Amino acid sequence: MADITIPQDLLPRDGRFGAGPSRVSSAQLDHLVRNASLLGTSHRQAPVRELVGRIQGSLGAYFRLPEGYEVVLGNGGSTAFWDIAAASLARTRSAHLSFGEFGAKCVSAHTTPWLEKPHVVTSEPGTRGELTAVAGVDLYAWPHNETSTGVMAPVKRIEGADSGALMMVDATSAAGGLDFDASEVDVYYFAPQKNFASDGGLWFALLSPAALERAAEIAATDRYIPDFLSLTQAIDNSRLNQTLNTPALTTLLLMESQLEWMMSLGGLTPAAEHCTTSSSLLYDWADSRSDVTPFVADPDHRSRVVVTLDLDDAIDATAITGALRANGVVDTEPYRKLGRNQIRVATFVGVPTSDVELLIASLDYVLENL
Ligand SMILES: *Cc1c(COP(=O)(O)O)cnc(C)c1O
Repeated sequence: MADITIPQDLLPRDGRFGAGPSRVSSAQLDHLVRNASLLGTSHRQAPVRELVGRIQGSLGAYFRLPEGYEVVLGNGGSTAFWDIAAASLARTRSAHLSFGEFGAKCVSAHTTPWLEKPHVVTSEPGTRGELTAVAGVDLYAWPHNETSTGVMAPVKRIEGADSGALMMVDATSAAGGLDFDASEVDVYYFAPQKNFASDGGLWFALLSPAALERAAEIAATDRYIPDFLSLTQAIDNSRLNQTLNTPALTTLLLMESQLEWMMSLGGLTPAAEHCTTSSSLLYDWADSRSDVTPFVADPDHRSRVVVTLDLDDAIDATAITGALRANGVVDTEPYRKLGRNQIRVATFVGVPTSDVELLIASLDYVLENL
């Protein structure tokens, strides 16, 4: 591969475009340093509990939570939350809209000895099926944004679902960057290393009164639930601004800082508009070139936070992402298991539109000079 040096004036200010972990800003690092006295102190004492409480309060405001919803958190990231849902939320049978790797992992977590085989609607990568009501299903699950393919899905209650059935949305890469109405969902869970630009390791879940009730109902049955997968334990701890076991304090501080900044943009709606603007630049750029095509054919399904673009077979995408990487522009590789000749770019809230413009300039340069 020929060495390509992208001219300095075409390079993004910050070269991190990964879909998680995502770029951490210098303002966040400053916040971390300013609050360094919290590091190495007890998470059971007031200073850290106040930090957790501030994050819970800000999330509630940012997501405009309806009356009775609670912000619950715990350790283990979104992957742990799949198992928590299977142990503590699904009563008899779940139904899933699965359109990529993360949706599929949620299905597999709900394939357990104590639940009936899940109902699953799957579709080809890059497309999205439709989940409709199924009698006997008490938990409907789908990703708000499928990070592996760049397909997004609406957050809307399933019409005709059994009364009391819960709507549960994996918002790991969507949360904070895609607008939605919280009253349409009972469980909206995510981890902070994507739009919230923090580190991994925690999960957050916005829980409706129905979800809180369901967790209590299942905890009262004779189902064996390990402490780590007990949502009622997480709820009880969260009400005290704590977690079952020790959280990463750095992750909490980085999250607090980014959340404050996102609130200062005006909240979820303007933040989501920012993501729409940035992602549109990339889709429009692809439309303007004959050798680049949006992977997701249906414009309504195209993610505004994770953009996937296929390259013409004559171009080796790994040569493009490799040349970018050699110039400090990193993590534009596609999802590892998707195996496509593709680039993937996160257009999270923390990625300035100007950097997306410069990324496009860099891509043009690499495509012309390869
Ligand atoms: C990143 C991601 C996950 C996994 O999150 P972890 O915190 O690493 O467990 C799950 N679902 C979606 C949609 C993701 O983007």
